[in-house]
Amino acid sequence: MKDIDDLNLKIQSCEDCDLSKFGVNQRTENTDRGKVMGYGDGAKVVFVAMNPSWFRHGFYCFREDDFGGNKLLHDALDAINWSRDDVYVTNLVKCSTFKNEPLEEHHIAMCNKYVMKEISLWKPKLIVPLGKQPANFFGGHIYRKCLWHGYTIFPMYHPSFCSREAEFRLQFIEEFKRIPKFLDEINSQKKIGEF
Ligand code: SF4
Repeated sequence: MKDIDDLNLKIQSCEDCDLSKFGVNQRTENTDRGKVMGYGDGAKVVFVAMNPSWFRHGFYCFREDDFGGNKLLHDALDAINWSRDDVYVTNLVKCSTFKNEPLEEHHIAMCNKYVMKEISLWKPKLIVPLGKQPANFFGGHIYRKCLWHGYTIFPMYHPSFCSREAEFRLQFIEEFKRIPKFLDEINSQKKIGEF
């Protein structure tokens, strides 16, 4: 989508907060640690995680990395017979912190304009925040469906957290299987929200 490509160019050159100053978020000839862009088709579902891991690989790490949380997300998509391209996966904050130090509130405050733009461009039927901070941002609670500005929200635990324990992995996949049913319900209703 051209508008998303334009937005990604803007994000790549963004220096609106101190995270742009860390070398970890600058793509160079010797490293692929650029900022991480959203990936996939957001017409149905947009997943919003917190921010890219410092230990990531590549520009679209959801697509390229197949271990830990990304592996669990891929397994969950397999469980409902969807491909990685069927959903859009992005982050509330586009830059990493050094060695995954916690984000500060001002990082979210400065960067959330980009995820808001992504949502307004895709107008997804469902938004799935991944983890407690994204759930808080969208005003929801884990594994409880709710509305946010007319959009349906279904917060889930972050797959990296769930991937560490077999019990949480199973729960994540079982909860994930509710997503197609939510879409059926939403499709039988009315218009998608706006803000
Ligand atoms: S975190 Fe967001 S606001 Fe801060 S520099 Fe990166 S892209 Fe810009």
